[in-house]
Amino acid sequence: MISVAIDGPAGAGKSTLSRKAAKALGFIYVDTGALYRAVGLKFSKSGADESLSCDIEKILAETTVDIRFIDGEQHVFLDDCDVNDEIRTPKASMMASAVSAKPAVRAYLLEMQRKLARENNVLMDGRDIGTVVLPDATVKIFLTASAKVRAERRYKELLEKGSKVTFQEVYDDMVQRDYNDSHREIAPLKQAQDAVLADTSELDFDGSLQLILNIVKERL
Ligand code: C5P
Repeated sequence: MISVAIDGPAGAGKSTLSRKAAKALGFIYVDTGALYRAVGLKFSKSGADESLSCDIEKILAETTVDIRFIDGEQHVFLDDCDVNDEIRTPKASMMASAVSAKPAVRAYLLEMQRKLARENNVLMDGRDIGTVVLPDATVKIFLTASAKVRAERRYKELLEKGSKVTFQEVYDDMVQRDYNDSHREIAPLKQAQDAVLADTSELDFDGSLQLILNIVKERL
């Protein structure tokens, strides 16, 4: 099986670009951030806040997260409910970041991700795909852009969805999340040694997509 691992910070355009790139390659796209978001949502629904001063193992034991592909699109199910939209709020992002620092949560989601890659040609995106989940991935890309550019893109996206956030809030959230993700003890966000760095600060969407496809095609 072929696997393409794309890691990088929040707002680098990973999911939109990965979805398109996977389609062009004929691979399944796996958005692993959605898994952490679903677990984060479960913790919120259980009454926990970002401090996670709760019984993590107990909540996980009562949680079912799974991925189903509907018309070729990934949908994440939490306890048998499709939560694809519910997991996209800024609050869900911060909760995902909080739960993702917990070893028990990462262990809970690890085998599901590996199984998908064993059984399918995948393009999988996240924070630790090239470093931890699929260390033998066929191609590894570290996708990034400057914090300002990433926050501008995310801000525009949220405005289009009717959200009332300010640019500063989006920027601050993003910087905080980058910090949390790259400073946690377990599976921190970092470029794998053998990953190709793709910086899209100066590229538009089509340019970024082309860059990714070129990197992949050169290595297959
Ligand atoms: O990619 P996305 O922004 O949806 O991810 C939400 C959060 O999930 C990230 O901020 C990160 O804390 C966590 N995550 C992770 N490992 C992954 C994917 C996401 O820790 N492979």
